[in-house]
Amino acid sequence: MNEQQRKRIVILGGGFAGVYTAMHLEKALRRRDDLEILLINKENYFVFQPMLAEVVSGSIGMLDTVSPIRRMLPRTDLHVREVESIDIENQTITTTPGLHPHPNVVHYDHLVLALGNVTDFRGLRGLPEHAIPFKNLGDALFIRNHVIHALEEAAIEQHDDDFRKQLLTFVVAGGGFSGVEVAAELNDFVRKVIRNYRHVDQAEVRVVLLHSQDRILPELDEKLALYAQKILAKRGVEILLKTRLAAATGDLAVLANGMRIPTKTLISTVPSSPNPLIDALKLPKEKGRLKVDSGLKVEGTENVWAMGDCALVPLAGGGFCPPTAQFALRQAKTAARNILAAIHGGERKAFQFKELGKLGALGHRSAVAQMFGINVSGFLAWFMWRTIYLMKLPGWGRRLKVASSWSFDLFLPPELVQLKLDQSTGISHEHFEPGQEIFREGDLGDRIYIMAGGAAEVVRHDGEREIVLARLGSGEYFGEMALLNQTTRNATVRCVEAMDVLSIHKREFGLLAANLPAMRESFEQVMKQRSMANENRLRHVAGRGE
Ligand SMILES: Cc1cc2nc3c(=O)[nH]c(=O)nc-3n(C[C@H](O)[C@H](O)[C@H](O)COP(=O)(O)OP(=O)(O)OC[C@H]3O[C@@H](n4cnc5c(N)ncnc54)[C@H](O)[C@@H]3O)c2cc1C
Repeated sequence: MNEQQRKRIVILGGGFAGVYTAMHLEKALRRRDDLEILLINKENYFVFQPMLAEVVSGSIGMLDTVSPIRRMLPRTDLHVREVESIDIENQTITTTPGLHPHPNVVHYDHLVLALGNVTDFRGLRGLPEHAIPFKNLGDALFIRNHVIHALEEAAIEQHDDDFRKQLLTFVVAGGGFSGVEVAAELNDFVRKVIRNYRHVDQAEVRVVLLHSQDRILPELDEKLALYAQKILAKRGVEILLKTRLAAATGDLAVLANGMRIPTKTLISTVPSSPNPLIDALKLPKEKGRLKVDSGLKVEGTENVWAMGDCALVPLAGGGFCPPTAQFALRQAKTAARNILAAIHGGERKAFQFKELGKLGALGHRSAVAQMFGINVSGFLAWFMWRTIYLMKLPGWGRRLKVASSWSFDLFLPPELVQLKLDQSTGISHEHFEPGQEIFREGDLGDRIYIMAGGAAEVVRHDGEREIVLARLGSGEYFGEMALLNQTTRNATVRCVEAMDVLSIHKREFGLLAANLPAMRESFEQVMKQRSMANENRLRHVAGRGE
């Protein structure tokens, strides 16, 4: 069969929906060679998300929740790239350039959209810069390393009690399954390993769970959700209900009711939004999810299929499928069958599935489960959780690895190794709220800040007296003096109107200044003018006896 006669099915997304669709399609490839399957995914692995929280605590190994897609799908072509655009009219997909700077364009005969959804912090002050999402393996590893880093810093911080408490405060926003599971695992982990930090008081640890409704786990029966709340509270998780996260800075979680929680660790599992690629498509949607018929074909199309979290799949008895792995897996089977029927002819099947139940782990060998209408909680639910998810993991190799990690975890202390993977702190975006100090007089100068919005004041202390030297706004910068003169900060900069800044680490700033003499000169000139203005201002204040 020549290339042109072959039908190419392109699957976008290598999560539950995408990988399992390819798996079912591969069965057809055993019998025929007129099909070609291409899967495009950002990563070369499939993530078993239900166990992700255990990576944070180290109950299972770092790679135990992931499986290489190439091994799962030996007959499927895999492109490990980010999808940049989808052209429905011309039936093409463009992916971002990889190591070679050319975009890659692929043609499809049938397209499967299985791109899931995203945690989207856009529009929330400071969250894109400072909140950590919890969705994939990278997030879980980042959270784990960050938490250990905070503990290491707390161990050194013997003088500033407030800062140490801030380091030991961990905030999780979102009381759905993923938020509850990560808060529970993080709480267990920190309270266990804190014993290894001799000078840190265990009583200073705070794990706070924020939830906007009047009880956590709204997906579950009320009795079970209240049980989960009781168990978590007993283990030391502070649950703040009817509370929304309004903003974040590198030092604070700011709540909608005005409360501010000083923290260096803010994890947020909300809000969940449609994948921007799905958002951009001119196809029928409702609440951001693609509208499909009962056979999973996108309404108004002949060769575009969608499933999983990015699709609104009707249920036989009315209503729509919830965005869970349980449904995505089953939808994949129906979709594969219907795609083959569309290509080769044959009867299409309507998606039908009755939810088996819901399970949520609460850490410390307890869980809540609602199975076949029966509520189970505590150790039995935890045992069910582990058994069911162990059997759902793809492949016996992975199951064995996880089972052995769990067995060792029963009697060995949790792993406490911090992996330092970031090559550079480089340039980053930061957000500050009014009243917050960006740096204080006497601090070491480690960054320069370029203001992208808001306002700040520069103040100097003379004994008890505070003298305002300048007010800065959008387009201005500060923090250059300590870097250029290699001294400590000679003033405090405080935010007066919520501000966004671009902060540049002294290493990168040093490189720019060394290689762009004109830039260095311009900075030095501004620094001189500012020094003179500061002296004048100080003399003026002293003269008036303010
Ligand atoms: C922490 C956590 C715990 C969960 N626990 C459970 C549970 O216990 N039980 C349950 O039933 N469900 C659970 N869920 C929900 C479940 O994981 C999702 O419903 C399921 O993953 C949806 O599958 P999907 O294939 O639609 O999307 P996903 O699994 O999210 O897959 C989408 C894929 O698309 C890829 N992608 C996205 N954009 C691009 C792009 N531009 N280019 C290339 N690739 C892209 C992503 O990398 C990803 O691999 C959990 C979810 C999370 C986050």
